[in-house]
Amino acid sequence: MKILSINAGSSSLKFSLFNMKDESVIASGIFERIGIDGSYTIKFNGEKIKEDAKLDTHVDAVNILLEKLISLKIVESLDEIEGVGHRVVQGKDIFDKSVIVDEEVMKKLESIKSFAPLHNPANMLGIEAFMKSLPHAKNTVVFDTAFHQTMNKETYLYPVPYEWYEKYGIRKYGAHGTSHRYIAETLEKKLNTNKFKLISCHIGNGASITAIKDGKCIDTSMGFTPLAGVMMGTRSGDIDPSLLPPVMEAENKDINQIINDLNKHSGILGLSGISSDMRDLTEAYNQGNERAILTMNKYARRITDYIAQYYVLLEGADNIVFTAGIGENSFIVRKLVCDNLKCLGVKIDDEKNKNCHGEALISTDNSKVKVYVIPTNEELMIARDTLELIK
Ligand code: ADP
Repeated sequence: MKILSINAGSSSLKFSLFNMKDESVIASGIFERIGIDGSYTIKFNGEKIKEDAKLDTHVDAVNILLEKLISLKIVESLDEIEGVGHRVVQGKDIFDKSVIVDEEVMKKLESIKSFAPLHNPANMLGIEAFMKSLPHAKNTVVFDTAFHQTMNKETYLYPVPYEWYEKYGIRKYGAHGTSHRYIAETLEKKLNTNKFKLISCHIGNGASITAIKDGKCIDTSMGFTPLAGVMMGTRSGDIDPSLLPPVMEAENKDINQIINDLNKHSGILGLSGISSDMRDLTEAYNQGNERAILTMNKYARRITDYIAQYYVLLEGADNIVFTAGIGENSFIVRKLVCDNLKCLGVKIDDEKNKNCHGEALISTDNSKVKVYVIPTNEELMIARDTLELIK
């Protein structure tokens, strides 16, 4: 059975086509600049095609994708694609697991659109486009927030007027849930049990840390939106909101502009003034650039803060996992964070840390906590959920 895993943004649509027999990727790619001009890249069979195309809407992107899957002989017939799994950013407390799309689900999605105004409407455009252009296939939705629905009330409530929660749904929802679940399940397969305490560190451009016990999320660092928690590529993470009014006044900005600054011009980019990209920061750090050193240390410190917090919450941890672009590739970030955790008995093997590619155990034999690097695979998780639901 073949399944498409879809991640639709406001002007883009990423896809991976899986053969679920062996979970191999048959083709993958991205449609970009939808509604602007349009281009697409398709990778298959070791080849890469990049072309411009007029993409007025997501339906255009989906139609070209389906047409190309046939003309490039990636599939013989579109009937081979039995399921399409869609990433949806916000499921609120309405969805605690992935579901098959029907009218009721679309109505519920519509009702929570305003909670992720930049993402959920785009995700829905993707679903609608496939419903139209690939009517025989079942669509499913896989939520970034669903895995975090096991947090208890004490954890997900903010210490603000309770009515804000009751009237407006103000609470912690978290994000990156599909990735954290993939990590927990991968470790579960490796260890042959889910009876372990895990701190999962998804550190990419966006970053979140999650405390997991016996396969369930206990707490996570992102909040009402993905702006909360650790410092990220361009996001500030947690800050004191009282710093906003003086900056707004001095820079003559409204609340949306200042939130945009916190989302797009803060974090690694804001503090270093160099770049949001860890590779650029690392280069400057290695050259001894002072702001880069400050930023790198602050970055590691914020991740450490959350790991330490969750270590206490979990009453000790058996495993720490690093994943996503930075977690998988930056031995310097992993080293700085783990060195900060020495007092908890965390010890990593510098050689293993430096030389790891793909999945690896990087802690020493006598480390109190096992430290792993595990590449995440949200697309596969979406495809697995879809297969499970439509089977
Ligand atoms: P997202 O999916 O959130 O956009 P990714 O998980 O792809 O982000 O992570 C992107 C980050 O990973 C960037 O900061 C990038 O610099 C970093 N990264 C990728 N490769 C390396 C590398 N070899 N060394 C250090 N950082 C890397």
